[in-house]
Amino acid sequence: MNPGEIFEIEALHSAGTYAKQPLAIVRGQGAILIDEDGKEYLDCTSGHGVANLGHAHPKIAEALFKQASTLITLFETYPNDQRAKLIAKITSLIDGLDRVFLCNSGTEAVEAALKFSRLSTRRTHFVAAMRSFHGRTFGSLSATFNKKYRQGFEPLVPGFGHVAYNNIEALENAVSGETAAVILECVQGEGGVYPASADYLHAARRICDAYGALLILDEIQSGFGRTGKMFACQNYGVTPDLLTCAKSLAGGIPMGAVLIGRKVKNLTPGVHGSTFGGNPLSCAAANAALSVMEEEDLPAQAEAKGNYLMGKLKKLASPQIREVRGLGLMIGIEMKQKAAPYLIKLQEKQILALNAGMTVIRLLPPLVISYDQIDHLVSVLAEVLNFETG
Ligand SMILES: *Cc1c(COP(=O)(O)O)cnc(C)c1O
Repeated sequence: MNPGEIFEIEALHSAGTYAKQPLAIVRGQGAILIDEDGKEYLDCTSGHGVANLGHAHPKIAEALFKQASTLITLFETYPNDQRAKLIAKITSLIDGLDRVFLCNSGTEAVEAALKFSRLSTRRTHFVAAMRSFHGRTFGSLSATFNKKYRQGFEPLVPGFGHVAYNNIEALENAVSGETAAVILECVQGEGGVYPASADYLHAARRICDAYGALLILDEIQSGFGRTGKMFACQNYGVTPDLLTCAKSLAGGIPMGAVLIGRKVKNLTPGVHGSTFGGNPLSCAAANAALSVMEEEDLPAQAEAKGNYLMGKLKKLASPQIREVRGLGLMIGIEMKQKAAPYLIKLQEKQILALNAGMTVIRLLPPLVISYDQIDHLVSVLAEVLNFETG
């Protein structure tokens, strides 16, 4: 197919829910994406944080091929070697979360965490944060703050309130004996790349404990090395009762998971389930992905490269930049104007990046990005960001 045909078919027959870029990407390699003409782009999106291992990692390809020729599907009622290996591994990554529910995407992980919270506490209320993003199905959308995602879909699930992020007093005032759970991102992603302050996350833990509410940390974007630790909450030393993850868990294959702490009760056969959840193919991919993360020490790479990139960005003396912030390789550059025109210019210069809200340029490169690629990114950014100043 030539690029013209690809664009035309997608324009005609896609649902229409995505603003399509004028790029047809057909291949990837490490931190590079390649279009139909062979033109290379530096991927600073990672598919919104999915491709932490980079594209076309041979260990993922090999694991998929092997497992696809062995066993692809198996309902969770039947134990399986790949699944057992995965759930032993994933629950060893963080202390205090000894059980896991497997599903297929981020929003499903959040739905499960919300359901488990109501079941466990027999309470109905949830407290979420302003600027939060937790997904687009009704439960997770109810926890999501931004009107842009909610509009047109009301009435949403009752019982959700939103309070200012990083504001301990607001959280303290919102949580009560009716609260089933508080749900927070350790670093708000879609909302503009805002890391939580350590005081705030520790206070959230303390407030939840005081009221018998559960703490859900949504690590769907921040998980699996992105912020310099396997999970972002490990930068803070705060352990939630429920930790949602997905995105890069299975090296790019769709998979979500909820890690579950000891305070979560009433999880008995039949209360929740998923047809594809825990299928051996996704589990094999996740096993391969987690071993690559350890072999290549991707969390440490994210920390070192994140510090390197952040240091360089902070020295970009563009008068158009309001602030640079982030954790590890989850970085936001807040501009004084809209981010969209800069993203178009970056794309013209073969760098793919994301926005986060109206004014933030978000960088989520694969954790395997090289230092040369980071230097290139910074020099193109310098050019593009200063270009605007005229
Ligand atoms: C992407 C994301 C989700 C939703 O994940 P999907 O797989 O798109 O459903 C939820 N929470 C956070 C923090 C995310 O970044």
